[in-house]
This record gives sequence, structure tokens and C-alpha cells, in this order.
Amino acid sequence: MQHQSKLPNVGTTIFTVMSALAKEHNAINLSQGFPNYPSSKKLNNLVSNAMNNGYNQYAPMAGNLDLRLAISNKYQLLYKSTYHPEKEITVTAGATQAIYTIISAFVRHGDEVIIFKPAYDCYQPAIEVNGGKTISIQLSAPNYKVNWEEVASKITSKTKMIVINTPHNPSGTIWAKDDMLQLQKLTKDTNIIVLSDEVYEHIIFDGEQHQSVCLFDNLKQRSFITASFGKTFHNTGWKIGYCCAPETLMTEFRKVHQFNVFSVNHPAQKGIADYMQDTETYLGLNDFFQQKRDLFLNLISESRFKFQPSQGTYFQVLDYSEITDEHDVDFAKRLTKAFKIASIPLSVFNEEGKDDKVLRFCFAKTDETLVKASEILCKI
Ligand code: PMP
Ligand code: GLN
Repeated sequence: MQHQSKLPNVGTTIFTVMSALAKEHNAINLSQGFPNYPSSKKLNNLVSNAMNNGYNQYAPMAGNLDLRLAISNKYQLLYKSTYHPEKEITVTAGATQAIYTIISAFVRHGDEVIIFKPAYDCYQPAIEVNGGKTISIQLSAPNYKVNWEEVASKITSKTKMIVINTPHNPSGTIWAKDDMLQLQKLTKDTNIIVLSDEVYEHIIFDGEQHQSVCLFDNLKQRSFITASFGKTFHNTGWKIGYCCAPETLMTEFRKVHQFNVFSVNHPAQKGIADYMQDTETYLGLNDFFQQKRDLFLNLISESRFKFQPSQGTYFQVLDYSEITDEHDVDFAKRLTKAFKIASIPLSVFNEEGKDDKVLRFCFAKTDETLVKASEILCKI
């Protein structure tokens, strides 16, 4: 049988490649973003309770209502922003499914979708498998600042959607209020939808405020927010996330969602809903991860890597240009095989593989692992 691939340029993701290489070479794995310490015992118990208390059949299509209420309360508490739990919030199988479903609910053949590079890897294939055209805007290391005149020049009558991500994976930078105001100004009086990937909203450092699209009235009207409990509650393997958006947008989302997954893991949703009653479970994350970032950066301050401290996410990018001029993918692989430490090369997220000699390291690890990793990095 012969068939023509809908995604001829897509291979295995760099996260899978680097994690497999780390395993093969018994390297410390700071590549794929996941914690190496356990998910909270209290949360695990709440999920077990949900299983033992009968939450074992299909959840409602849009998600367990207690969880949607907890999410709605969170937006009220943190941003004074209202999302109706029944009409404007849907629980998904991780942020990845939310992102895919948003794109497939709205992007038609020939529509243009603007993304900023380096870009998280699931945006572009989702656009293209749905017949859309990716319009990339390349940002530059080390600050990854957006030139809003360039964005304005890329908007056309075909622009259907703009995908943004703050705090940003992979660079660890955040957008300022002014960036959001510029985006709001550019999209006002258009039909452009904004997909705001906010999976790291609770991991932001040095007292900075997360700039959610829901803080900006006109932006909120055209935006989806996507979120991931895997990132927030240290259990990436559970694959529970959600999205919120005004009712008219969410209605279209659910038309696709109900035939894509219909509904997601019920006991995990109920357990998370109960866990979120204590707001410290997510408000404490900034301090928790800032300590890890600071530990890691202090320990590698004498190394030959150069860096600007991560502003958010649990990733730190390190510039290795003083060490070698090797291509970043080759260098990341050599570090894994010869030095037993795995990271993610940034060029794979860039336009035409632009190589700024930068690697991403995940610091969602035990202090012991971070100490061991730093010892290696100081020897390179
Ligand atoms: N967006 C970004 C920026 C991510 O880093 C990730 C990975 N957590 C996702 C989306 C996907 O999240 P999930 O694992 O919940 O599907
Ligand atoms: N979000 C994770 C990261 O950035 C990767 C998840 C995946 O492997 N798809 O490392």
C-alpha cells in the first residue's frame, strides 16, 4: 500500500530522542521536562479515594464539575477574571490535546497561524495536519524579545490564529505587560483567535507577575488559555489539563473535543479538584522552583556555560559558545554519551534549525540530582 504522509517532515520528538539516549548511556536526564521526585502523597490519596468512592465511569464530557469549579475559582482569585465553570472551561487529556483540539476546531485549509520560534514542538504539526500554514517569527537569544512591528507585518487577511506561550518553553523567558498590550492592540477589531499556552503560569520567579491573556479584556474575548496539571502538580504522566475560553469559542472547541477524547480520566480529575481546595498547592510553586533554579545556577556559576537566570518554567538555558562551536544537537548528544548528562538542544525549535549554541536543562529534579549534574557541568 502506498500513501503520502500528511506530515513528511515530522520524526520522533527531541524529548523522546534525548530521554532514550540518556537511558541508553545511563546519563543524568535533564532533557525532557518532568520531575524525578514523587507526586504528592496527599494528591495520590485523593485520587485513590475518588476511585474507591465510585468515580470510575465516564466523567461529563467537559470535565468533572468540582474540578471546573476549582479552576473557575482559581481565575477569580488570581486574576479577578470570570470563566463560567459549565460553559467556558473544559478538562482535557493534558495541554497537548487542548492545543491540538483548539487548532483543529478553527484552522481550515490555507489559514495562516503565527507562532514564535523557538516554539514548543506540538504547535506546528497540529497546524499543518489540519491544512493550515505556519507563519514563523524567529526570536533571538538571549532575550527572545518580540519585535511587534515584525508581528504587525506578518498579519494578513488569512491570519486565523496567533499562538503565544509565556512563561516560555524552551527559553525560560516571560512576556511583559507591554507585550500583551501590543498583542491586544494588533488583534483588536480582527477575527484572530489567540491560543495562549500558559502551562507554566505557576512557575514564575523573582516576584514577577504572570501575564495571562485573561487580564486584558479585549484579548480575553478572542483567546483560549491552555494549562497542564502535569506541570503544576508534578505528575506529567497523568496527562490531565484544561482550557478556558469565552462561550462562543468553547462551544466550537467542544464539538471537536467530544469526538476526539469525549472525556478524560475521572478519578484523577476528582482527586485534583479536592487537592486544589488548598490554594497553596499551586501558589507555593514559584518559591519551590525558584530555590531549585538558584541552587542549580549557584552550583554552575564557575562553569564555562553562560546564562541569564530563567524567569519562569522549570528550564534553564545555557550558552556553551565559549566551550565549543559544535552544532547544538551534536554537542547535546556528546554530553549525554561522554559526560553522562542529557539536555535539549534549542535549534530543533527554531526556524530552519537556527543554532545559537544553547542547550535547555530541566531543574525539576531533586537537589541531589542537581548537585551531581552541576559537578559534571563544571568539568566541561
Ligand atoms: N505546552 C508547553 C509549553 C509544554 O511545555 C508542554 C509540556 N508540558 C505542553 C504544552 C503539554 O502539556 P501536557 O503534558 O499537559 O500535554
Ligand atoms: N513538555 C515536555 C518538555 O518540554 C515534553 C513533553 C513531551 O515529551 N512531549 O520537555
